[in-house]
Amino acid sequence: MYYLKCKHCNHLNEVKSEYLVVCGLCNRKLEDNYKDWKVKHPEKSFEDFQREVCLTEEQVKKGDMMKPTGKKGNKKGLI
Ligand SMILES: [Zn+2]
Repeated sequence: MYYLKCKHCNHLNEVKSEYLVVCGLCNRKLEDNYKDWKVKHPEKSFEDFQREVCLTEEQVKKGDMMKPTGKKGNKKGLI
């Protein structure tokens, strides 16, 4: 399974079909959607798109462990 991350809410959308264009959580357009990508790469296939643009489960798991956003909760008592 491949995923597309929403740049607006960081939701990971499962790429079940080539028609995934909007985020399932916030309903905003995914910038890396297949339709737009296909316009730039007309010779490539949906499988290429998944491999080159989408995140794999492996990458998702790794990415979760090193979140760049230092949100509240991990540095208590330092202020
Ligand atoms: Zn979203």
